[in-house]
Amino acid sequence: MSGQLKWQTGQVDTIVIHCVGDELIWNGAFIDPTLIDKWHAAGGMVRKAEYRERWNPHLAHFGYHAMIDPAGGVHTGRGLDEQGEHVKGHNNHTWGVLFSGATKWTYNAWWALRGLVLQWNEMLGDPIVCGHRDFANVKKTCPNFDVAAWVKNSMEPLPECVLEVKK
Ligand SMILES: [Zn+2]
Repeated sequence: MSGQLKWQTGQVDTIVIHCVGDELIWNGAFIDPTLIDKWHAAGGMVRKAEYRERWNPHLAHFGYHAMIDPAGGVHTGRGLDEQGEHVKGHNNHTWGVLFSGATKWTYNAWWALRGLVLQWNEMLGDPIVCGHRDFANVKKTCPNFDVAAWVKNSMEPLPECVLEVKK
């Protein structure tokens, strides 16, 4: 079995951040990985059985390696030794995280993203951390914030992208 698993973390040199979409209704909306899984199923994405059997078998399609929800919960997706489906042409050297929201995120979500990326940074050495839109020929604006500016600012929440939670 393990001999068939060619995807190794040593090949991963980039972390890619995604948002859910551009529609403001997604800001603060609680989205479960199983919903994303349904969307990805509709998009024709399928995980290989050998990976699915070992890790998150309930997610048969989910293309990202992780997802952050608006409450700051971190959900796992594909295995970290499994190729994702999230950036055309770059799935073979990237890990992808879905930052659930459109243009604004809660403080809890921002801190959770920071924690996850710091953890992945440690695992990968010194990876590039970027947004989906930072790849050439990507027309989307995903993840709708400047990842480089965020990294430069010690991954502190970007003030213009904070969703204040009404109490
Ligand atoms: Zn994206």
